Amino acid sequence: MTRITHWIDGRPWSGTSARTAPVHDPATGAMTAEVDLADLTVVDQAVESATAAASAWRRASLTQRSRVLFAFRHLLAEHAEEVAAAITAEHGKVLSDALGEVTRGLEVVEFACGLGHLLKGGHSEGVSTGVDVHSVRQALGVVAVISPFNVPAMVPLWFVPVAIAAGNAVVLKPSEKDPSASLVMARLWKEAGLPDGVLTVLHGDKEAVDGLLTHPGVSAVSFVGSTPIARYVYETGTAHGKRVQALGGAKNHMLVLPDADLDLVADAAVNAGFGSAGERCMAISALVAVGDVADRLVPRIVERMSALRTGDGRRGCDMGPLVTAQHRDKVAGYVAAGVEAGADLVVDGRLVEPDGDPNGFWLGPTLFDKVEPEMSIYTDEIFGPVLSIVRVDSFDEGLALINANPYGNGTAIFTHDGGAARRFETEVEVGMVGINVPIPVPMAYYSFGGWKSSLFGDSHAHGAEGFHFFTRGKVVTTRWPDPSHGGVDLGFPTHS
Ligand code: NAD
Repeated sequence: MTRITHWIDGRPWSGTSARTAPVHDPATGAMTAEVDLADLTVVDQAVESATAAASAWRRASLTQRSRVLFAFRHLLAEHAEEVAAAITAEHGKVLSDALGEVTRGLEVVEFACGLGHLLKGGHSEGVSTGVDVHSVRQALGVVAVISPFNVPAMVPLWFVPVAIAAGNAVVLKPSEKDPSASLVMARLWKEAGLPDGVLTVLHGDKEAVDGLLTHPGVSAVSFVGSTPIARYVYETGTAHGKRVQALGGAKNHMLVLPDADLDLVADAAVNAGFGSAGERCMAISALVAVGDVADRLVPRIVERMSALRTGDGRRGCDMGPLVTAQHRDKVAGYVAAGVEAGADLVVDGRLVEPDGDPNGFWLGPTLFDKVEPEMSIYTDEIFGPVLSIVRVDSFDEGLALINANPYGNGTAIFTHDGGAARRFETEVEVGMVGINVPIPVPMAYYSFGGWKSSLFGDSHAHGAEGFHFFTRGKVVTTRWPDPSHGGVDLGFPTHS
């Protein structure tokens, strides 16, 4: 049995853990490792190591920092397959999808390589006679990144490269369900020349998260996970004086107008509904079909679904298993609830014949039609391969349905009508919008984040907002001594 432990001070932790959690290979159901779960003593040790490293790292020149970033970028590209294999072994997603998330994470590293430009302040010469003003952005110190199971490389890469580029030390707490990708990347950071302690990987569960949220040595927390935990993290972290961005769950809608190209729509719905077994925060889970769209679209979707191969992610299948047996059972429970509530079960993923070990955590792609907004398959984030079609009579009804949803992560409209698309873009209350693009994940130089219950805090991830989140602004007013400025004046400082 492999033991997975923390990465502190640039090496594996040498202590003994009182608590561990099992790590499974979801495609075989076998327990493959045990991961150490940090208690408060280990949290203290991690923060102490990061604090010691942070003061030197924030003083490292921008040139030194960007060289480490470039070297890490090179190593990550070189080791992308190793990271992807670690993801597939513990998450279950197919290898091509795992490689895809590494590629998207790599884009953030490439963006962060431009740190010299991104950390530039402003300068105003002569704001008053002989007085200049300039602004700088400085590192916060030690920041924590807490990530979910579903994108174990990409989500850490949304934050870690930006935080490090900005001069912070990072304590990364990955999901205990698939902790290994973070450790591969920590090793690559070290090889890239990152000083020990600037990146710590701390494994754990609620105890470790609470330890970080309340630790006086932690300045900021970037969290990604389900909405109830995101809300808790935001409230607890801010109550302890920390800057917090907490990205939560999602229920992403795809609005399809009658003029859309339904073959393209069917491709998009299948890709966005079942990619990564629906365990994506940007997965489409509700397809809102206007007018007669559903009657024409359902056969096209079913045809594509029947060609999908569910199985072991290492065998070239289209869709892998769910992450744990418990999660598979929960998603299957939603399928049963949908049937019970009276929705039309068009394709039942519970009947799947997987290309893989029978003990894997299997559930095939599932399609419901005639789903009503009060059914639990519509109201809840299922986070599995279940696509629900909701029929509406008009664009306005579809838009109102999307805007009434408490989540606001991603959404998409499919149409050839530019006017309708423009109205959708303007009026939809969602953070990331696709126009004929089903999964509109922004490029690294824009920022990623939802609205409403999909994000708590002011800042989205990466892009300019990422650098802003991980730095504090300072404005410096300078006057070099000149005898003409002497004299006592207690009045309010105004400029002349
Ligand atoms: P989760 O909320 O269960 O766990 C997220 C993190 O919180 C993990 O590191 C976990 O160890 C920790 N955690 C779990 N329970 C905790 C508790 N009681 N107190 C403190 N910390 C706790 O989420 P998950 O199941 O790992 O990930 C799936 C969820 O993440 C989905 O809801 C998905 O939509 C969301 N997600 C959102 C985005 C986004 O960008 N908005 C991206 C990816 C995933």
